[in-house]
Amino acid sequence: MLRYIIIHYGEIALKGRNRQFFEKKLADNIKFALKEFGKISLFDLHGRFIVLIEENWDLDKVTEKLLKVFGIEYFAMAWNSALDLDQLSQDLLSLLKDKKFKTFRITTRRANKNFALTSQQVSAKLGELVLETMKKKVDLHKPDLNCRIDIVNNFVFIYFDKIICRGGLPIGVSDKLLCLISGGIDSPVAANLMQKRGAKIIFINFDSYPATPKENQEKVKDLVKVLAEYQHGCRLYLVPFLKIQQEIINKVPPAYRVIFYRRMMLRIASLIAQKENVLALVTGDSLGQVASQTVENIHAISEAIDLPILRPLIGFNKEEIVTIARQIGTYELSSQPFADCCSLYVPQHPVTRSDLNLILDTEKDWKFEELLDKAMGNCEIIEINN
Ligand code: ATP
Ligand code: MG
Repeated sequence: MLRYIIIHYGEIALKGRNRQFFEKKLADNIKFALKEFGKISLFDLHGRFIVLIEENWDLDKVTEKLLKVFGIEYFAMAWNSALDLDQLSQDLLSLLKDKKFKTFRITTRRANKNFALTSQQVSAKLGELVLETMKKKVDLHKPDLNCRIDIVNNFVFIYFDKIICRGGLPIGVSDKLLCLISGGIDSPVAANLMQKRGAKIIFINFDSYPATPKENQEKVKDLVKVLAEYQHGCRLYLVPFLKIQQEIINKVPPAYRVIFYRRMMLRIASLIAQKENVLALVTGDSLGQVASQTVENIHAISEAIDLPILRPLIGFNKEEIVTIARQIGTYELSSQPFADCCSLYVPQHPVTRSDLNLILDTEKDWKFEELLDKAMGNCEIIEINN
């Protein structure tokens, strides 16, 4: 029997006139994700994608790749039987030979109304057959094994497991975004959630080497590598930040340092956004998590630039963020204990309700443009390909 992957996509089917555009992107992204397996034969069948599985494919590896393609609702590794009940019965029995189970059910779905039997009838016939020849029990509610039969046009698929994906939109259907990534737990998750909504991400990190260890940069690169697997390669800007921090320490009250760090980060990010034609930034802020993330401080920080700042984690609890970080494989990396720039020179009691007038007053006569230009001139651009 030939084997196929059946790929179901959910949300993108709803998008009316854009549907073709979404489907094309998803098909391209699937082919790209599987490109190491050779030339991919993919076709559309009644609102699902079908991919022919070649004999030498490592299906665990294929699964791992497809789990990272946004826009897929679920997929299944299926066998194709025939539009013929006798053949279907034989094929099912031969597949069940190697399966360990005590209880089972048959679930038939039929998109092809020309098939002689209804879904009900197919399920009943096959159920009876398995009962009698294999002496197994039927359990419709919690079976050990669900034998799924999908009859679609001339295909009669048999499969057992549905592999549930994270849904979302195919990468590339939304405009690209620039994400401020630290080595922490939150910002990689924020980036991934925006990837889930179809945006390709460019990354920017601010680094205080040599006041912070070189390993910190490696950690950020490793995090970006993990996130690159969800999109076709990543660009990472590494911006030297120590000079700016030192200047801030000289100029502003200690309680305000982090606010000024952030305002400077946003200014540099918006210059890079301009250069990259990016219309919005992404950060990993979560309301109230740390002093810089109170509403007052978010307001005072955001005031520095005009670009919209997307904060997908704003309403998430730390536990929820950690759960996603583990799921996407960034948690372990993020948990490595290297000091990053924001842990440098931070007072014990940072301001939680900053005074915007004080901030604007401090910045009034401060010619920081030169500092920004220098940081831009010294930034390193790294292309990470997957
Ligand atoms: P994270 O876990 O992402 O570091 P956090 O909870 O530690 O977040 P902060 O340190 O206050 O929060 O940072 C808030 C956001 O500011 C981060 O999520 C990130 O988007 C951005 N940010 C902070 N530090 C840096 C940095 N060194 N380089 C780039 N972006 C940064
Ligand atoms: Mg942080």
